[in-house]
Amino acid sequence: MRQSKLFTKTQKDAPKDEISVNAQMLARAGFTDKLMAGVYTYLPLGFRALKKIENIIREEMENAGGQEILMPSLQPKENWTVTGRWETMDDLYKVTDKSGKEFALGPTHEEIIVPLAKKFISSYKDLPLYLFQIQNKFRMELRAKSGLLRGREFLMKDLYSFHKDEADLNEYYEKMKGAYRNIFEKAGVGGITYITFASGGSFSKYSHEFQTVTSAGEDTIYLCESCRVAVNKEMRDEQDSCPVCGNKNLTEKRSIEVGNIFNLKTKFSDAFGLSYKDENGKERPVLMGCYGIGLGRLLGAIVEVHHDAKGMVWPEKVAPYLAHLINIADSSNVADNLYDELSAIGVEVLYDDRGNKSPGEKFADSDLLGMPNRVVISDKTIEAGKYEIKKRSEKEVKLISRDELLNMFKKK
Ligand code: ATP
Ligand code: MG
Repeated sequence: MRQSKLFTKTQKDAPKDEISVNAQMLARAGFTDKLMAGVYTYLPLGFRALKKIENIIREEMENAGGQEILMPSLQPKENWTVTGRWETMDDLYKVTDKSGKEFALGPTHEEIIVPLAKKFISSYKDLPLYLFQIQNKFRMELRAKSGLLRGREFLMKDLYSFHKDEADLNEYYEKMKGAYRNIFEKAGVGGITYITFASGGSFSKYSHEFQTVTSAGEDTIYLCESCRVAVNKEMRDEQDSCPVCGNKNLTEKRSIEVGNIFNLKTKFSDAFGLSYKDENGKERPVLMGCYGIGLGRLLGAIVEVHHDAKGMVWPEKVAPYLAHLINIADSSNVADNLYDELSAIGVEVLYDDRGNKSPGEKFADSDLLGMPNRVVISDKTIEAGKYEIKKRSEKEVKLISRDELLNMFKKK
């Protein structure tokens, strides 16, 4: 992508109405635009990062047997009265049309997917079944001050699993933990994202949250440093020691809940009468699990974790572009050629070809945007027959040959 063609511009100052680091930096860098509190547009660079996250998640969900669907946001009230959540869910957006008919804007999709599954599940042969979507949710969040971390409209991956018995559900639940670990690892927050025991209400002893440790987090967790698991604040009242090793010496940390997995047992199957015939022809309720990840929240969490005073520092697998090529030489021939060559071997390059910007402005923008690898072409590098390369996360600048440069990117 030629930066001269990018319709967004960077801004020197953060918007006055944003207080969180992720919202400030994403706005300054032109990744997102705020429409109102908790509602954002993804601009080209932000959209690319979001798509990277989406693809990482999709790959893991498909590996876990998930079949992707897309369910509607606009939902009939009737489905929500069946479970009682029309009355009890206080962050539900309700819409009324001219005729007085009422609808919900979906904050989650159990009320839609269970009646859907009921149309296709009748026998043990139809189980297990794993359905997921990546879709916008609506929730009436009153304190939407944390940028992408807490949206009123936000993208979520939600997977729902359907099982014949508890053993099958438990096995899949464990598998999903592994898939989540892979996702957060690839997204660059693996080392600081902890599986967190949350009290599971009346259905199961525990549900699990995936909590990314950062001072910007809205949540508090209590971490067992040796087991690398945590308990959340609500649970700490019931569980004041590590659920794995019993250690009572837990460390308090601020964190962001990037994902959540839940054993629903038969809560929703009972409500909608979702059952199957077992091998002996006996009717049994279907057991369910649900598994969520907020994509925007994860993107925001990555920014909260990976930034410095100058801007964002994108991990390679979620960066909008792998390389930021910057031309500060008098002529653009060498840079144009390298841009074409890198593009031809499939390297995603943002190319700062702007003629009206000083080197200082280009470097400052590059640090703010935060692509993982910066390649600079100047009159000096051209004279030396080399290319200047620097990682966004490091200080060291290297001069390397064309072959070294191409090989380095080919490997990625
Ligand atoms: P929280 O306690 O932070 O409100 P939640 O328990 O309501 O989260 P879930 O209903 O489990 O969240 O939703 C699944 C995932 O969706 C969460 O783990 C989080 O990543 C994401 N998520 C939830 N609410 C929001 C929101 N308002 N904005 C962005 N992402 C969200
Ligand atoms: Mg919530």
